[in-house]
Amino acid sequence: MKTITGTQIRQTFIDFFVEHGHTAVPSSSLVPGGDATLLFTNSGMVQFKDVFLGTDKRPYKRAVDSQKCMRVAGKHNDLEDVGRDDTHHTFFEMLGNWSFGDYYKKEAIAWAWQLLTEVWGLDKNRLWATVFKDDKGNVPTDEEAAGFWRNQPGFLKENVLYFGRKDNFWEMAELGPCGPCSEIHYDRGIKYCDKQDQPDHVCHVNGDCARFLELWNLVFIQYNRLSADKLEPLPATHVDTGMGFERIVSVLQDVSSNYKTDLFTKSLDVLRSLTGQSEKEMLADFTPYRVIADHTRSAAFLIADGVVPGNVGRNYICRMIIRRAARFGTKLGLEEPFLARVAEAVISTYGSFYPELEKSRGAILDNLTREEVRFARTVETGTAQLQNLLDGIRSDKGSKNKSGNQAAYILDGRRAFDLYATYGLPFEIARDIAREQGLDVDEAGFRAAMDDHRLASGGGKAMGKMGGEDAEYFAGILKDFQKKGELPNGVEYDPYLPTQITGNLLALIMDGRMVDTASVGDQVSLIIPKTDFYIESGGQVSDTGYIRAVDGSWEVEINNVRRPSAGVIAHVGEVLLGHPKAADPCVAEIDMPRRHDIRRNHTATHLMHAALHQVLGPHAVQAGSLVAPDRLRFDFNHPEAMTPEQIERVEKIVNDAIAADMEVISKLKAREDAIAEGAMALFGEKYGETVRTITITDPLRAKDAVKQEDLIAFPTAAVEQQEKYSYELCGGTHLDRTSDVGMFIIVSEGSAATGVRRIEAVTGRGAYELVARRFKALKQTAAALKSSVEEVPQKAENMQDEVADLKKELSGLRTQSALSTFDLQLANVQTIKGVTVLAVEVPNADADTLRALADKFREKYPSKAAAVLATGTIVISVITEDLVKEGLKAGDLITGIGGRGGGRPNMAQGSLPDSTKVSETLAKTGKAVEEKLK
Ligand SMILES: [Zn+2]
Ligand SMILES: [Zn+2]
Repeated sequence: MKTITGTQIRQTFIDFFVEHGHTAVPSSSLVPGGDATLLFTNSGMVQFKDVFLGTDKRPYKRAVDSQKCMRVAGKHNDLEDVGRDDTHHTFFEMLGNWSFGDYYKKEAIAWAWQLLTEVWGLDKNRLWATVFKDDKGNVPTDEEAAGFWRNQPGFLKENVLYFGRKDNFWEMAELGPCGPCSEIHYDRGIKYCDKQDQPDHVCHVNGDCARFLELWNLVFIQYNRLSADKLEPLPATHVDTGMGFERIVSVLQDVSSNYKTDLFTKSLDVLRSLTGQSEKEMLADFTPYRVIADHTRSAAFLIADGVVPGNVGRNYICRMIIRRAARFGTKLGLEEPFLARVAEAVISTYGSFYPELEKSRGAILDNLTREEVRFARTVETGTAQLQNLLDGIRSDKGSKNKSGNQAAYILDGRRAFDLYATYGLPFEIARDIAREQGLDVDEAGFRAAMDDHRLASGGGKAMGKMGGEDAEYFAGILKDFQKKGELPNGVEYDPYLPTQITGNLLALIMDGRMVDTASVGDQVSLIIPKTDFYIESGGQVSDTGYIRAVDGSWEVEINNVRRPSAGVIAHVGEVLLGHPKAADPCVAEIDMPRRHDIRRNHTATHLMHAALHQVLGPHAVQAGSLVAPDRLRFDFNHPEAMTPEQIERVEKIVNDAIAADMEVISKLKAREDAIAEGAMALFGEKYGETVRTITITDPLRAKDAVKQEDLIAFPTAAVEQQEKYSYELCGGTHLDRTSDVGMFIIVSEGSAATGVRRIEAVTGRGAYELVARRFKALKQTAAALKSSVEEVPQKAENMQDEVADLKKELSGLRTQSALSTFDLQLANVQTIKGVTVLAVEVPNADADTLRALADKFREKYPSKAAAVLATGTIVISVITEDLVKEGLKAGDLITGIGGRGGGRPNMAQGSLPDSTKVSETLAKTGKAVEEKLK
């Protein structure tokens, strides 16, 4: 079988189904949108769930995708197996084709067969199919699917097998859409069976050994479950298929482990280059390599989807897998942070199909290294403490063992939690260490302890339920307030006209639970009845600031604001002074200079968006943006790099718009109306029925466009009629007038992804600082050039000319000096078969000098003479005309001594292979002449 790369396999899958009328749909994020019951996307099904439930519609009826999945928490948790074997992963890809009320069993089976056997060339005799036969006898046997299988060309009719509910019936949940499924298994041959030594092992499909691999599961959704024993047929039937990508790659590349496919080659190569181990040494103890390669891949994909290391929920998982990978690194002797190096390999392997990896390269590498450094600071103390506890258990073991107390082998879960809370040693790592010593950690106890501290989520029953983050917890707090008649409509949010807001501190939350008071240095969340702090959205970052007691007795620095659940806004920060207490009257104050910088950047973003449309065309729509205090970043669709002229024009148009002192007007409108009027809405953004619009208008243009009397009679209508410079749907905070932007400078323009460009720019204070810094550098350059600032370009150009002249002069002097010593060397000729031969190395010369010397040689020896002259690797050879007539060529001498080159018959130029062995090479000249004269 010819080796096909993983990337090619993924692409052939997608191409095959696109050819059969499917729409290629991108993978959805690892963080499931709008599904609080799920921590991570764990199958291809997740993004289409609502389509099957009938609550969502798509513009296509057939889809194909490769979905990013994580199984590292909750019901589907493969973490414990990762590293120990060759098939488990925390992150993996699922290939799938989908029919939403379109084709059904016949096509799904025929296409699966065609792709596997014709496109990928798998041996037809090794493929098996399973179909559903109810072990409870309530649901009809899927003879339909069995029949289609037996009809496939070359399919062995006896290779259809029947299995019951556990293997071949699929249900989305206890109630709802469900149906039989049909799995395709591949027989890798008896040598792959890893259970041959088990006497009760039946080596067959679903026999649970490594010989028979389930490649593909075709799910046929045809029923709706109404109760435990009541099914009704669905009006429309669907197909949902899933193929484990890593597994099919291992089969098509014919390797015994997913980790031996080319999906992991680059990561493992980087790791081996760091450990210095050979491939054989690596395979002898493959576990740490597998863990690191798997976990780094997961962490890279998580961070690219916005999940960074942290203490709760998904963020905890991200932290845990990074730390676990780092610990396995120490087993390989890797002490310094190294995961970023491995992540580079992951990005290089996957970046072309998953552009978010390339886009987040910086964030991925930074987060990995930062987390490794953080972990390294505490891990030693943490593991030492753990070791003490484990030693204690072991010394107790003898005595307690007599009484048969099994618990003695197990570390108390609460103690394990203390290790996490104090030293950042995640449970999973504590368990790894304990198990390496034949002991274990009480997981239920750990989870209970975590729940008590409310680090866990959603009222936190178990870590597996952390999917809702702390949404349920905060929703519960709100409910309690509402019972007391407070916050009837939730926390009031109005970020647009900030004032100092006063009110009572309603709740103080620390480590995920409500506390009465806190002290200096504590990280806390504060809830007050009303806030004007902006909450990050639409690319604009959150406000920061302070919440202080009205009497000045305490102060909390707020560095983030978030909305953990509907109606609740939490101000997150650190106590700087005193002891904040619930019910204290307090005042919230935004960092206004920072807010003002953000407003400048946001209004400038809108101006630039409009300018890009003017310069590049209407296709240059926003594809992403960041509005921060120090800069703005704007991604937009455009197929090629902008020219320097285009960049200059955009910058000029924006600065003209700033100087025009236009008005920035915000208005609430019905979404339909705003869009009908041409307001720019962002693709993929969800808008409510009422939207906020930002209009930037030019009062000068307005004067011409609108009659004066209209302006007086209907001031609002008049504004509506003005030609709008920019009109967007936007919830951000903006300036009142464009002139407040001050100045706008584009710092960089580059590629963000295929077909997407990225501009970074600064405004206001940031622009001033940039200009000041550059002006200072220019002044320093002027001083170094001993010129005025205005003269710098001319002076620099003059200097370049001067340098060129000097180089030329130097070359002339070199020739002269070489010529004067050449007279001496001219005597060192040898005579071979009547020919005068000279071979000389000339130090510090160039090709021109060599040519001048060659002429001099021919002057002195006008007949029957040949010379080879070299400097560094440059070589020139000359021969006299009479030798040319005898059939000799100058170029033959260069090739004769092992060089390369050519030219005219009497003079040739070329290069020698090794500049350190010039004299050895030249020594071969005599022999070369002798051979060519034969
Ligand atoms: Zn077997
Ligand atoms: Zn905006």
